[in-house]
Amino acid sequence: MSYEKKSVEGAYIDDSTTFEAFHLDSRLLQAIKNIGFQYPTLIQSHAIPLALQQKRDIIAKAATGSGKTLAYLIPVIETILEYKKTIDNGEENGTLGIILVPTRELAQQVYNVLEKLVLYCSKDIRTLNISSDMSDSVLSTLLMDQPEIIVGTPGKLLDLLQTKINSISLNELKFLVVDEVDLVLTFGYQDDLNKIGEYLPLKKNLQTFLMSATLNDDIQALKQKFCRSPAILKFNDEEI
Ligand code: ADP
Ligand code: MG
Repeated sequence: MSYEKKSVEGAYIDDSTTFEAFHLDSRLLQAIKNIGFQYPTLIQSHAIPLALQQKRDIIAKAATGSGKTLAYLIPVIETILEYKKTIDNGEENGTLGIILVPTRELAQQVYNVLEKLVLYCSKDIRTLNISSDMSDSVLSTLLMDQPEIIVGTPGKLLDLLQTKINSISLNELKFLVVDEVDLVLTFGYQDDLNKIGEYLPLKKNLQTFLMSATLNDDIQALKQKFCRSPAILKFNDEEI
């Protein structure tokens, strides 16, 4: 396979394909266009079809700046939009996607991108950053609405799962993402992730993305616990 590789603000794009080729919901496609992205990056052009058409779990190692955020946000949003079309309007669904990150700052960054992507489908996909600095009472109120996608740190999610009875329903969860998984582990969140695992639905009903700029053996335990024969994608700086 050969690709034309061009750098757009540091992200290496794959102009052998387009976002249209992924057959995304038109509301999501329009939002991507609005941001100004025309071609996917390499990690996006590989991860998105694997996740959407083949329903694969993915472990991806790709350099900082390679576009990992959209590589998982697009499949998460598209999967949820497709699911929403199969259930009755107004039917309760609980949380459908969880994105875990190592820090509150990163939670805010990912949340900002997520907000832009759900701009035209915010009725179907409500989002919440549980690690922002809102008070617990405001957070509790927002959680009662059962937002479809939650972003936050593992520590905050576990805290909510353990202390706020019934505040987050994960029975219908479709997607679990751990972004910057190397840092998540370095920061000591392994135990929290294991405990979060006890609240999740069966692996066969859940798609998992583990994303990182570096990967080492520490990830094996997470892979065993959360992934089902994942596709392993590795993009090193030297390869692009
Ligand atoms: P990573 O998480 O791999 O470090 P990001 O998802 O933060 O990378 O993306 C890095 C930069 O590339 C961001 O500024 C983002 O807006 C930009 N970017 C992402 N996808 C594309 C794309 N398809 N085309 C052009 N720029 C993109
Ligand atoms: Mg990133």
